[in-house]
Amino acid sequence: LHKREEDLNQLVLDCLELIEELAGRKQVELKLKQSMGIPPVMLDRSRIQQALINLLSNAVEAAPPGGYVQVSSIHRGNEVRVEVADNGEGIMPDKKEEIFLPFVTAKDQGTGLGLSIARKIVEAHQGRLYVRDALEGGAVFVLLLPLGAKRR
Ligand code: ADP
Ligand code: MG
Repeated sequence: LHKREEDLNQLVLDCLELIEELAGRKQVELKLKQSMGIPPVMLDRSRIQQALINLLSNAVEAAPPGGYVQVSSIHRGNEVRVEVADNGEGIMPDKKEEIFLPFVTAKDQGTGLGLSIARKIVEAHQGRLYVRDALEGGAVFVLLLPLGAKRR
């Protein structure tokens, strides 16, 4: 890992820019809710971007045409979270862990690798990646990173 102190909100913005075209093609609205004053986070920028792009592309694929994907950044205590929420079908309780295994996919052209790679990256940062239900239906993927992470 090549960790440096990074601005999490800027990193999220860069990821949204990368996913904009895919979202636009599907008429999925990208919504952003960023907390102010998030301290710099020690992370490998290209790896965390890869993880976030995997979550964002899944979310855009899961959202219905005319639906939305909402990305939030949150700072609480000794951790920061990026939450990627969509208003798709959501994930059955018995699939919530299985989907993080490699080659598990429900898509015709899916590789089933996106979430397993994302989780590996996040865990290499001493963080956690998990999914919960959105109140409005749909899935919320939570990418959590500790603020006091070691430099390497
Ligand atoms: P792939 O996208 O190639 O299928 P992933 O590892 O990215 O592989 O995702 C695995 C599976 O998890 C998907 O095929 C899908 O069934 C489920 N999944 C991932 N993200 C979402 C989401 N936002 N909403 C509903 N299901 C999802
Ligand atoms: Mg995927």
